[in-house]
Amino acid sequence: MKNVLILSLTIIILASCAPTPPKQEWKKGNLHTHSLWSDGDDFPEMIIKWYKDHDYQFIAISDHNTIANEERWYEMKDRESKNNTLAKYKKTFGDWVEEKDSADVTYVRLKTYDEYRLKLETPDKFTIIKSEEVTSSFERKPVHINVSNIENYIPPIKGESVVDIMQQTLDHVHAQRKETNTPMFAHINHPNFGYGISADDFKKLHGERFFEVYNGHPSVHNEGDADHMSIEEMWDAVNVSYQKHGKPLLYGIGTDDSHHYHTLSSKHSNSGRGWVMVNSTKIDANSIILAMEAGEFYASSGVRLKTVLHKDHTYFIEVDPVEGFDYEIIFYGLKKEGNAVVELQRSSDLSATYKFQSDDVFVRAKITTNYAIENPYKKGETAQAWTQPVIPN
Ligand SMILES: [Zn+2]
Ligand SMILES: [Zn+2]
Repeated sequence: MKNVLILSLTIIILASCAPTPPKQEWKKGNLHTHSLWSDGDDFPEMIIKWYKDHDYQFIAISDHNTIANEERWYEMKDRESKNNTLAKYKKTFGDWVEEKDSADVTYVRLKTYDEYRLKLETPDKFTIIKSEEVTSSFERKPVHINVSNIENYIPPIKGESVVDIMQQTLDHVHAQRKETNTPMFAHINHPNFGYGISADDFKKLHGERFFEVYNGHPSVHNEGDADHMSIEEMWDAVNVSYQKHGKPLLYGIGTDDSHHYHTLSSKHSNSGRGWVMVNSTKIDANSIILAMEAGEFYASSGVRLKTVLHKDHTYFIEVDPVEGFDYEIIFYGLKKEGNAVVELQRSSDLSATYKFQSDDVFVRAKITTNYAIENPYKKGETAQAWTQPVIPN
């Protein structure tokens, strides 16, 4: 008995000395997918089921300029016969499928958001976030903005410039949020798709908080080219400006932007390439949105993290490794006298602590590894993760 007491006391004393990081509850989700409601090639339920079966806790079907709330009969085309889309759908969902034939054409009714949500959501385990990709363009430059947890449809915006369209869309989202009292946010998609949106465009915006630091669609040029910044360089350039002008820092999201569900290759936009991990105990749309607004998430294209913590003048990262691969944790930041983000610290350990310095303005981290992605967005791609920029505390 005495020994047990001594042992218990020792454990209590040791526990109170060791800085054990709080256990974070990471929920995996993808906020950017397309279905037959716009230019994706499968039914929403089939897409949702894939994510549900692959250990995601939330998904948003974000079709172009629709919130999937009207009656729509989809005409089965050659592409659908080739992909066997209807047969696969019927095999999985049976009597739930509604079809009708007229002359030689088969039509299938697309289930609305309310219907597919009711069918596939599992309370506390898997949630389906209502979404729209508000899709506009200016002089052939694409301007695509996702609205996660949207309530009411926002029509594509017409404007006098790329910036004008972006700002008007953001203003619509802020107004709708206020009006409906529902947490929702806009995130600006794939800036380098058609090189439609530049860092200078971002800098002119007010109320912009989220963008895609990683998008898994093969046409989005995450890495930039000789004439254009990479998305990561853009992120830093925008945040240097936002910080100098007293605006909140821009957060980076990872997404699939999946369209193709029948053929897997680097020429197709497939599921499972980019996602976010959100630190939230609850799995419902409002909780996920609020946690992301608080910066409690990281973006990933394959690297998993156990801990992301900024506390007591430090930024602590711990990797959840895949056995047999190497990892690097790199901290980047802006210094008070600086005009650009610089590398602050690099480590090959599976965890790293960066001690904030008095001249740090903001700090973020990127985690890289040498393991190759199975179905990459680009040949030779290796997995990464990006944590959010924080202002030292
Ligand atoms: Zn898009
Ligand atoms: Zn899209």
